[in-house]
Amino acid sequence: MTPQTDVLDKMLTRLKLTAIRDQLESLLDEAGRRQMSLRDLLGFLCEAEIARKDQRRITMGLSIAKFPCLRTLEGFDFEAQPSVDARQIRDLAACRWVANGDSLLFLGPPGVGKTHLAIALGRTAIERGYSVLFTPAMVMAASLAKAHAEGHLEERLAHYSKPKLLIVDELGYLPLEQNAAHLFFQLVSRRYERGSLLLTSNRSVGEWGEVFGDPVVATAILDRLLHHSHVVTIRGDSYRLKEKKRSGLYKPPVAEKQS
Ligand code: ADP
Ligand code: MG
Repeated sequence: MTPQTDVLDKMLTRLKLTAIRDQLESLLDEAGRRQMSLRDLLGFLCEAEIARKDQRRITMGLSIAKFPCLRTLEGFDFEAQPSVDARQIRDLAACRWVANGDSLLFLGPPGVGKTHLAIALGRTAIERGYSVLFTPAMVMAASLAKAHAEGHLEERLAHYSKPKLLIVDELGYLPLEQNAAHLFFQLVSRRYERGSLLLTSNRSVGEWGEVFGDPVVATAILDRLLHHSHVVTIRGDSYRLKEKKRSGLYKPPVAEKQS
């Protein structure tokens, strides 16, 4: 390293322009090959730095979000799921609903892609700069109940209220205890018109009285959730089962017993 590049290296480090620092030689070579003007060169260097900072931000956002697995919109087979309107999902991927603090509900039977779409949309929200947290409904219910019992509910409510988008997955697989239903209501009230909620559930909203074990609490929650909301109802067979049927791995048990 010449003394001149050493000084440059130190200045770029101090300015935290690490992408420019690390790739300086190749970026300058490329700029030379393309015979860039000084103004274009400056833009070219800034682009490289922004690309790295965006990548870092997304990686960090994904680790904070705690998604259980990686799912993308590109990986969603819309043809296999005709009850989902691809245009509506692509429109939701623009994240205007997150900017507005609206809620989004994915309703439908198991295996139809609710969690897949929730994670994929959560990912697009992170790419657009929003903070996201994913939690299974039962994990959140247990965590709020524990905090309540131990006297630090406020902290837990703040934890779940902070992200711009909170994804609560699989509401309704098990009914919530009455105390948990009340805590859920407190959370929904706190987030109301501030942050977005994305909920997935195998139960229709008409059945939420049973899910929350209390029709009054369910109505109060729905009142807030549905005020500014988008509801996507998915129908059809489980995707996993369809895949297995197609590959011949799945044979209906009843048919085997006959004859
Ligand atoms: P749900 O949450 O509705 O129970 P999931 O989203 O967990 O269903 O889907 C079950 C599995 O099938 C996941 O691995 C998911 O990625 C996959 N899957 C479901 N629907 C589709 C689809 N239309 N295209 C691609 N993969 C799908
Ligand atoms: Mg699911």
